[in-house]
Amino acid sequence: MRFIYEDLSLAFERIAREVDPLPLKAARDRVGGLTNTSKMPGPSANLPASRCQLGAQLQSVPGSVCESCYATKNAYLFPVVVSAMERRWELLPGLFKSLGRWQDAEQVRHGCEWISAMATAIGKPRSEVFRIHDSGDLQSPLHLLAWTTVARLRRDIRFWIPTREAGHVRRFLDGGGSVPPNMVVRLSVPMVGEGPSEAIRALSRHDGVTWTAVGLETSPGQCGAYQRGGRCDSCRLCWDRSTPVSYPLH
Ligand code: SF4
Repeated sequence: MRFIYEDLSLAFERIAREVDPLPLKAARDRVGGLTNTSKMPGPSANLPASRCQLGAQLQSVPGSVCESCYATKNAYLFPVVVSAMERRWELLPGLFKSLGRWQDAEQVRHGCEWISAMATAIGKPRSEVFRIHDSGDLQSPLHLLAWTTVARLRRDIRFWIPTREAGHVRRFLDGGGSVPPNMVVRLSVPMVGEGPSEAIRALSRHDGVTWTAVGLETSPGQCGAYQRGGRCDSCRLCWDRSTPVSYPLH
């Protein structure tokens, strides 16, 4: 069992490549659609912040980065946005059930259809970058495996995924999972103004894994979006595989 994610990664990529690609619109419908935030230079996929596991608990912890989570306010409360996030969320149990039954070829193929559809749905964005989860978070190591497989299918796109779920990332890596060269996993430090724990530092030694903080002046990377009206413009620091970034509290 130890290297299960290494074997599954190879199998899922092979099966997803064998799936007949859907037309763009059908692919987007299959994954519940994508989003475009005003800040980021590329599209993203999101889930309801209320479905975060650790994040939902941290929302009631004073001084945590989730206490004033931007994804529980403003445009994220518009009914059309809420229903789109719920639509994407409702696809996940079926995805996890299918991918989790890796000895059942038909089930795995069904899960790989989501992976193939997501790879197609991304299309050809102008900036060739994609953010996974501008709202919401990883639900399991298998969820991370699904996204790393999407990234393996789209080597022309750089992927960034932030997560509070260091445990899911650790189990993925311990199980032989790896982050492809066009992807970075950013482990989020839970408390405002704090640096990474020893556990986060240890995970950040893996290729393609680094961390983010909020309000940490000593971080090597600092987000300057809020000096540019809340836009990334030409900055791509979040997609850098080795530089930790701190964001201002917003
Ligand atoms: S660090 Fe750069 S890429 Fe990341 S959010 Fe800030 S401006 Fe955007």
